[in-house]
Amino acid sequence: THFGFRTVAEDEKVGLVRGVFDSVAGRYDLMNDLMSAGIHRLWKAALMDWLNPRPGQHLLDVAGGTGDIAFRFLERTRPRGATAEHPPVAARVTVCDINWNMLGVGRDRAIDRGILVGIDWVCGDAEQLPVPSGSMDCYTIAFGLRNVTHIDEALAEARRVLKPGGRFICLEFSHVVLPVLDRLYDTYSFEVLPRLGRWVAKDEESYRYLAESIRRFPPQEELALRMRAVGFDQVKYRNLSGGIAAMHSGWRL
Ligand code: SAM
Repeated sequence: THFGFRTVAEDEKVGLVRGVFDSVAGRYDLMNDLMSAGIHRLWKAALMDWLNPRPGQHLLDVAGGTGDIAFRFLERTRPRGATAEHPPVAARVTVCDINWNMLGVGRDRAIDRGILVGIDWVCGDAEQLPVPSGSMDCYTIAFGLRNVTHIDEALAEARRVLKPGGRFICLEFSHVVLPVLDRLYDTYSFEVLPRLGRWVAKDEESYRYLAESIRRFPPQEELALRMRAVGFDQVKYRNLSGGIAAMHSGWRL
């Protein structure tokens, strides 16, 4: 509403999203690999290529529960000669996620990799980030924007926390732009994916929700317009795998 209160339906969405990720947190990485045949790794690498991070930068990775983006960012900005025992202090990541279970999985993975400094794990909502204005060099959100209740508020928050000259990149499932691939993809999303969810994560509903949330997410051009509407400059997007996913980039100038 205008007063910032959530309606009952919206509260249900917040609860549902929390429930989905509570139930899949433990098997989240396995499911990612299975569902995308490992392609999410290529997409995340493409995100890093486009972001082109530099040592000394501070990244805010929102909806970053399992730490995938954070680890890649630190790896790319690692000063030469640094080791797991002497990790780089030059770059920093704040991972913000609404779900403690996902953050817990990410923190455990960081410890397993010997990453003990350089990442802060923060529980918070993309629509009301617990982060000071103008404090971040970059903001990323990978497969997270689709889950927030008010996309425009999350976009405005992203711009608020960036320094002038800061960069925003969203990686998200999007809308297939190739005629035959779109039909194949629909079959996969609505028939294969829920079954995979049932067999592997013992949770068919969460994966049905996933397919539906992808369909409802704004198409590439619309998301770019909405980024411009909250004040991002030089907004551009790139399709990945024929639009199965897309990256949107914008700057706070
Ligand atoms: N970024 C990771 C990746 O690419 O593997 C995780 C993506 S996972 C599909 C989506 C994440 O978004 C979950 O960890 C979930 O808890 C988080 N999330 C959902 N709604 C959120 C919100 N409003 N604010 C912050 N995080 C949210």
